[in-house]
Amino acid sequence: MLQADLHAHTYFSDGTFSPEELAAYAVKQGLGAVALTDHDSIEGWSRMREACQKEGIRFVPGSELTSQWRSKEIHLLAYYPDENHLEFCSNLKKFQQARTLRIHAMTEKLQALGIPLTFDEVIEVANCNSPGRPHVARALVEHGHCRSMDDAFKKYLKKDRPAWAPKFRIQADAAIQLIQKAGGVAALAHPGLLNQDSVVREILELGLDGIECFHSRHSESERLKYRQMAEERGLLTTGGSDCHGRNKGEPLLGKVTVPMEWLDRVEELARSRKQDLTNS
Ligand SMILES: [Zn+2]
Ligand SMILES: [Zn+2]
Repeated sequence: MLQADLHAHTYFSDGTFSPEELAAYAVKQGLGAVALTDHDSIEGWSRMREACQKEGIRFVPGSELTSQWRSKEIHLLAYYPDENHLEFCSNLKKFQQARTLRIHAMTEKLQALGIPLTFDEVIEVANCNSPGRPHVARALVEHGHCRSMDDAFKKYLKKDRPAWAPKFRIQADAAIQLIQKAGGVAALAHPGLLNQDSVVREILELGLDGIECFHSRHSESERLKYRQMAEERGLLTTGGSDCHGRNKGEPLLGKVTVPMEWLDRVEELARSRKQDLTNS
């Protein structure tokens, strides 16, 4: 029985795989479908669509939006949003600009600390429209300022460290509406990483379509708990590895999978939503 991995990143955000490598690796792992969910970006879609077609697997267009609820950073998975939807695309651009501004702020802070890493050096490492902290960390390592990415986060980039900088984030309820207006399906990513189920329950009241129950960092009991939460509320269940390529040893792709029927339900909801949007 073929399975689907509905959460993966490429070098169009903070992963290391190209779309072609991701598709090929998905086949190697025996997957029948793979979702591309780069952070605040759909830049890799066209190449990924083509690569999946060549490899004979199903491509699931997606993105992982960074939003906020109370003071928490909330990741929302958007599946099948219309790539030509003006408001969706202009918001992605806005999120990407906010990311770029943040890189400026972080490199300025690093320079003030005596670390001569420049904005351009980070952008060169990022080489995409959706730069983020992992790129700053990688640049710090590549330019010999830190021993490892872990080291870079611990010394400078974590929330309470001296080169951390805040980033504009859309409110979670507005992000959910944005995804749905674009005909997409909105799922809460890795709720277990929030470490606070009271916040998870609140977010589930904001009009979400689904919950990512299966994730590399969810324990067996968390999987069960979030499936139960989804079922109680009539929400869709999703899951995936959250593979970032070879950042941290062996790629995670295919290590967390869901049945194809779960994907069928997500696709079906996106289809009917788009139908409703064109009819209204
Ligand atoms: Zn995430
Ligand atoms: Zn992710």
